[in-house]
Amino acid sequence: MAKSSNITMCSFCGKSHSEVKKLVSGPGVYICNECVEVCSNILDKELIELEQKNKDKSKKSTVLSSLTPQQICAKLDQHVIGQEYAKKVLSVAVYNHYLRLTQNQNSDDNALNEVEIEKSNILLCGPTGTGKTLLAKTLAKVLDVPFTIVDATTLTEAGYVGEDVENIILRLLQACDFDVEKAEKGIIYVDEIDKIGKKTENVSITRDVSGEGVQQALLKIIEGTVCNVPPQGGRKHPQQEYIQVNTEKILFVCGGAFVGMEDLIKKRIGKNVLGFTIDEKKEDLEKVNALEKIQPEDLLHFGLIPEFVGRLPIFASLRKLENTELVKVLTEPKNAIIKQYSKLLKMSNVDLKVTKDGLLALADEAVKRGTGARALRSIFESIMLDIMYDIPSRKDIASVSINKQVVEGKKKPILKKKSNSSNVA
Ligand code: ADP
Repeated sequence: MAKSSNITMCSFCGKSHSEVKKLVSGPGVYICNECVEVCSNILDKELIELEQKNKDKSKKSTVLSSLTPQQICAKLDQHVIGQEYAKKVLSVAVYNHYLRLTQNQNSDDNALNEVEIEKSNILLCGPTGTGKTLLAKTLAKVLDVPFTIVDATTLTEAGYVGEDVENIILRLLQACDFDVEKAEKGIIYVDEIDKIGKKTENVSITRDVSGEGVQQALLKIIEGTVCNVPPQGGRKHPQQEYIQVNTEKILFVCGGAFVGMEDLIKKRIGKNVLGFTIDEKKEDLEKVNALEKIQPEDLLHFGLIPEFVGRLPIFASLRKLENTELVKVLTEPKNAIIKQYSKLLKMSNVDLKVTKDGLLALADEAVKRGTGARALRSIFESIMLDIMYDIPSRKDIASVSINKQVVEGKKKPILKKKSNSSNVA
């Protein structure tokens, strides 16, 4: 039924005065008590969401700034075995990096505000399988910032076959659902940095697009620049819209094995130590972990250009893991391989037992392969393959034991049956 114009009604829901409890008037408009309630609910919900967002934001920034280097290191300890020196260097560097970012924004002191944050990008140097990638990955987890790993050998100078360096930033964006603000505080691990050395000392007619060319391209984004990232990846083309990302606050951790670095440093130290007797000198060299004495000049021998080395002011070296440490890698970290297999077998109600001599034999085998802790997983996986194949279709097994002889391939894993236990080969 049409309402006559002199009847007052709610401008939102159209109900008349007689249909609602209360009608509040404003200049030329009316609102009923029911609509006020609906609006109030909408506002409440939005306010709660906003508060939650602010809470999350402040929680994040306190995480970034409130962990002390010792706390960061303790968190790294839960995942990474050994490598105390590298953990210490990293913890301090990362603490300073994020502290500077927050202090600069918050300070009331103008002089301090004028201090420019110098990026403290980090270079990790150490043999393969010693935990370089793991350290960077764990750091990102501890700090709750986006993280990505890139392989420097796939990069080429813009315009050549291979990946443009901007794609590194794209990966970081993908890791945080294209949240640019988050990405700008992330961590990027650039692996195989020792493989992009200059190919030749001489100026050659052919361009060094995967060596010096990549270093030049990386220089800018590592130092800090506003980077135009093509959202779909691939090559840039003029019609495409770019996402702009400022790389100033992104922490770059570069890693490489730098094979032969230790000898190089020992040689350098040997030359520089004057006034020692031969024996004293020798003893001194044996004591130090040569990699801890790394200097920028040593990196130049691997074809890294001085400008690039200058952007990586913090060096942390990792050493080869010893057998006892490899045993710990198998059992202690939160995601240790033995813990993972135990969990898998437990789901089929089977216990996994690896004896002490079994663990040591696994470590010995990994040392022989020369790929550090990386080898542990493949060795253990191949031992467990038949077991993992059989167990789901057998309901009579209570436990599986792995000892030295099993690891050495002299025996099959020892299976124990559930009741009236008798060992099964
Ligand atoms: P790289 O030094 O070659 O980057 P990674 O960090 O990728 O080595 O290590 C390969 C695997 O070996 C990791 O996933 C991890 O399981 C194990 N690993 C290596 N080093 C350590 C370590 N110090 N502590 C615990 N696990 C390690």
